[in-house]
Amino acid sequence: MHYKIALIRGDGIGPEIVNETVKVMDKIGEKFGHTFEYGDVLLGGCATDAVGVSYPDGTAELCKSCDAVLLGAVGGPKWGSDKPAEQRPETALLAIRKELGLYANLRPAVLMPALADACPLKKETAERGIDLLMVRELTGGIYFGRRDRYETPDRGVECTDLMAYSEKEIERIGRRAFEMARLRRRKVSSVDKANVLETSRLWRAVMHRLAEEYPDVAYEDVLVDNCAMQLVRDPGQFDVVVTENMFGDILSDEASMITGSIGLLPSASMGDGAPALYEPIHGSAPDIAGQDKANPIATILSAAMMFRYSFQLSAEADAIEAAVDKALAEGWRTADIAGPGEAVAGTQKMGQAIRDNI
Ligand code: NAD
Repeated sequence: MHYKIALIRGDGIGPEIVNETVKVMDKIGEKFGHTFEYGDVLLGGCATDAVGVSYPDGTAELCKSCDAVLLGAVGGPKWGSDKPAEQRPETALLAIRKELGLYANLRPAVLMPALADACPLKKETAERGIDLLMVRELTGGIYFGRRDRYETPDRGVECTDLMAYSEKEIERIGRRAFEMARLRRRKVSSVDKANVLETSRLWRAVMHRLAEEYPDVAYEDVLVDNCAMQLVRDPGQFDVVVTENMFGDILSDEASMITGSIGLLPSASMGDGAPALYEPIHGSAPDIAGQDKANPIATILSAAMMFRYSFQLSAEADAIEAAVDKALAEGWRTADIAGPGEAVAGTQKMGQAIRDNI
């Protein structure tokens, strides 16, 4: 088969980790008889430098002409919060998610056996294993609600951020979570703050309605503060965790830390119809950019998710994941996952070790 993939290399370590991932995808193509055509898409700080805005006109159309989108990372101190919104890389990320209608963000958090020592939790907790999928609503809630900033006569400046959710937005993300659970261990934990927030009470009501439609999937409500605690106390209890945008932003970073390294975890953002976008969960790591130090695994595993979810190529996805496991079992470590005294490989060496195992 032939697939067209949009590549957003982005800023910082983005180009380095995308390069290694392209080489891995090409190796898969050779082995399984597929061809990949790559289209470069300019987005982020590098786009601001080149054309003056971080989200150039036509970006969404370019992505929509492809079967899937792979993003390295965008952002860096050069394009910080002192710059106008249209020059900031974060603006471009929010815009592309919105324009492609990518309302569901899927982040697996898995503790890899070879890296069990890197898990910061108690040994007996790590031994029970961690294999959960965080499903975060991505285009609604407080990050997209109306903002206001105004002077008050007696309290100085006051600001508001509006958190709004509709039944329709909750239902589509909920359905996605229940469908994913059917492909896994058939359990959904829905996270909200229904004891305080009206949006959460609607969230919970819609989730309960959906739970009745999926009687084969176990369901529970979890308050967000309790979820934050349970993730460090007993993460093995979770299979699919579904939550709104801001709670998901925070909890998915927590889930990533308990598995050892931010450099290992992939993600997928999906909508209905438009191409899905795959990216590592980490940022552009400006502190190590251009030094051949970045761990490319999260991006390479993002390509595996692309093969599985956008192209329905599970054998190819399995081959990538197995090659990563083997490279780690052989002892290959980038600096972020190396233990004391362990030899450290660079970005390119790690990429090569993974390709050698395909
Ligand atoms: P970060 O994820 O870039 O870095 C956090 C720490 O983790 C740093 O010490 C970094 O060196 C390390 N790290 C991250 N990825 C790594 C990898 N693959 N291998 C080895 N080490 C890795 O987060 P940050 O420092 O908060 O943000 C840096 C920039 O990235 C900011 O401009 C931020 O806005 C942007 N960002 C972009 C995205 C995205 O593109 N989706 C996501 C988060 C942050």
